[in-house]
Formats: sequence, C-alpha cells, structure tokens
Amino acid sequence: MKYDVAVAGIGVAGAFTLRALSKKLRVVGIDKREKLGYPVECGELIPTKSEMKRLLPKLGDYSLFEIPEKYKSNKTKYFEFVIPNGKSVEIEFEMLVINRDKFISDVAESSGHEIRKRTKIIDYNGKLRLRDLRSMKDYELDAEVVVASDGANSRIAKSLGVWKYEIAAAKQYVMSGVNCREDTVYMFVGSDIAPGGYAWIIPKGNGVANVGVGIRQRFLKRGDNIHKVLERFVREYPYSSQYLRKAEIINKIGAVAPVDKPLNKTVFDKVLLVGDSASMILSHVAAGIPISMIAGDIAGNVINDYFEGKKNLDEYDSAWREKMLDAMMRSYRIKQLWDKISKTDEKLCKYFRFIGKGDMCAILRSKIPLKLRIAEKFIF
Ligand SMILES: Cc1cc2nc3c(=O)[nH]c(=O)nc-3n(C[C@H](O)[C@H](O)[C@H](O)COP(=O)(O)OP(=O)(O)OC[C@H]3O[C@@H](n4cnc5c(N)ncnc54)[C@H](O)[C@@H]3O)c2cc1C
Repeated sequence: MKYDVAVAGIGVAGAFTLRALSKKLRVVGIDKREKLGYPVECGELIPTKSEMKRLLPKLGDYSLFEIPEKYKSNKTKYFEFVIPNGKSVEIEFEMLVINRDKFISDVAESSGHEIRKRTKIIDYNGKLRLRDLRSMKDYELDAEVVVASDGANSRIAKSLGVWKYEIAAAKQYVMSGVNCREDTVYMFVGSDIAPGGYAWIIPKGNGVANVGVGIRQRFLKRGDNIHKVLERFVREYPYSSQYLRKAEIINKIGAVAPVDKPLNKTVFDKVLLVGDSASMILSHVAAGIPISMIAGDIAGNVINDYFEGKKNLDEYDSAWREKMLDAMMRSYRIKQLWDKISKTDEKLCKYFRFIGKGDMCAILRSKIPLKLRIAEKFIF
C-alpha cells in the first residue's frame, strides 16, 4: 500500500510536520524510539514568544511559540557567560526550559496520523528501507512524499549524498541537587571545558538541571575526549563545579548537532529535508528547536497544498529560507568570528575586556555586534 506522506523521524521537526499535515492525507510517521522524544538529547531551552519576534522578525505568525504551561519546566530571566579567567557577563534574556520529550510525543500523537515506533530507517532509494526493531525484519515502504526529519545523523541525507555539514558532539547529564540560581542559564567557554563549543547548566527547576558540553573534535587536545571534558566541567572546573559539587547524575546522553550553514537545497524530487537533517540550526549556539518547529510546520503546509494541486514541493525551500535564512546565516558568521577570537583562552579573555552586555545580547539574538567585526580585523 502506498502512503501519501512518510514522515521519517519524529523529533521536533517530524512532530510539527505531522501536526500540520492534513487529516485527509494517508500519512505515516516513523521513529526508531519506543517513546517519542525520549531519551532527551537536548538542553531543552527555547526562546519565549517575544524573543522569537526579535530573532525571526519575518515569521509573521508566532502562535507556535505559545507553549502550553504543562510543557514548561522553568522560565529563566538571565544568561551568565563565564570566560576562562572566571569573569562573567550577565545579561537579561528570557528563555523557557521545556519538557521536550512530552512536548514532542503529545504533538505527534495528537496529530491523529499513524505512527510506527521501534522502526529504524536504514536508507532511502526511491523507497524507504525500514527495519522493525521488534522482529528485526527489513521491509520497504512506499510514499509519494518523504519528509526526512531523522536528525543530525540523517540516513536519508546520507542516502541522497548531502550529509556534508559540520557536526559537533555533545554529552549531557541530567543532575539533581544542583545549587545554582534557577532564573539563570549558565554558559561557559574555554578550551578545558568546551573546546570549539560551550558548556552549559540549564536549570529545569527544583534543583534539577541539564548539564552538558558541546565540543568539536578538531579543537580537542590530544588524549582528551568528551567524557573527560564533561567530568572535568562537573567535578573540577572551579567556576562550574561550585554549583555541581553535591549534585547527582540522574541520566546521561550523548548526541550530535549540526554546526554549519543550512543545506543549499532541501527538496530532492519528492523528498523534503526538515530540521537537523538539513543542518537548519543557529550554529553558533547549536540551537535548533524553534527552527525545526517552524520548518516542520512549513513543510506540512506546503505538502497539503501540493496534494491540493496548489503548490510545487520546491516552494518549501523558498518558504523556510524567506523566514529563517538570514538569522541562520548571521549565526554561522558569528560562529566563524567566534572561532577566531577563541583560538586561545587568552584571546577570548582579551576580547571580553572590551565588549559589553549589549554585544553579548546581540550575539545571543544572532546579530553581529560591531565589536565582533572589529575584533576580527584589528585585534586578532
Ligand atoms: C546535547 C544537545 C543539546 C541541545 N540543546 C538545545 C537547546 O537547548 N535548544 C535548542 O534549540 N536546540 C538544542 N539542541 C539542538 C536541537 O536538539 C535540535 O536542533 C533539534 O532537536 C532538531 O530537531 P529534529 O527533529 O531535526 O531532530 P531530532 O529532534 O534529533 O529528531 C530526529 C528523530 O529522528 C529519529 N531517528 C534518527 N535516526 C533514525 C533512524 N535511522 N531510524 C528511525 N528514526 C530515526 C530520532 O529517534 C529522533 O526522534 C541540542 C542538541 C544537542 C545534541
């Protein structure tokens, strides 16, 4: 039996595609997990609706970001950036910490579409080759339109030969008994605890926090690895361990995230790449939840119009670019500049001597402050 649409991968992007797809279509969602969204491979941090208006002024409709209370585990008011000499910059910036697993699962399940869990995508060659992880039997699934929402390690992007973006590795503990301010998201930069990336403490409330590090392999010192880096951040690094000394690990995850520009092309015949599979990300902070929500929503609506004969599938590509590309490209540029100023911890500290809160706020909003451009040209 042929489906109209297969949504291959039900994370953030897949769930929001399913949500947008018309009930008139014959749709199947596919995921290897038993429980959608779990384990949570994410810091679970998203901007509030008012921050989304600043980040993506061309979006127009921000109703996706009216997050129901039941999915909010915390609302933070500040970001604290801590640099390698222990100095910090605190800025006002509202964020939500969500229960991402419940959010994804509810959005996908309430779409009313068929969902096949414990089903692994093996590859794509005109048809999806799948493996039932209960029986371990392989089979093919035919769908007129395929949505590749299978994340940063996308099997479909690999099958299409477009999986070429830079990937960062991340490891995270969920910890209880964390003794930090719960209205503040902490970000740490420095070669010992986050080579090529950053480390974070994201309070979920009641002493629980997501504590993790994101690194890039080529910035790692010889003999070091991500497990050692996270342990160092939790147990030894003076500016973070002060909050974590008495904390206990509840859960551990390892995952990857794209830290690159989005793909130049995201529609290949009748395959649409959505979310991390297309490297749709704010690469300087590896933030992709809001981007994937929007991209999934756009993909679902373009597919509905395609089946009604109103649009070509290619229009998905131009639609998401129009609303989000500027922010993604500025973010990528910030990442490039940041790589230069953070070549050594000394350079990083030097840069922080002459920037202010406003500059850090701009960076968080994917805007390039003048002082970052100047730093590239005249200081380093
Ligand atoms: C440690 C970490 C922390 C992060 N923190 C944040 C944050 O705080 N805020 C933020 O905005 N972004 C964050 N990100 C990025 C964010 O999580 C992603 O950008 C976002 O989840 C992308 O959504 P997606 O739906 O494209 O991919 P995913 O959410 O990864 O979903 C992909 C889905 O496809 C399924 N899948 C994958 N391969 C297969 C297969 N072969 N067969 C079947 N199913 C498959 C997976 O099970 C999963 O359900 C973080 C990333 C990491 C790694």
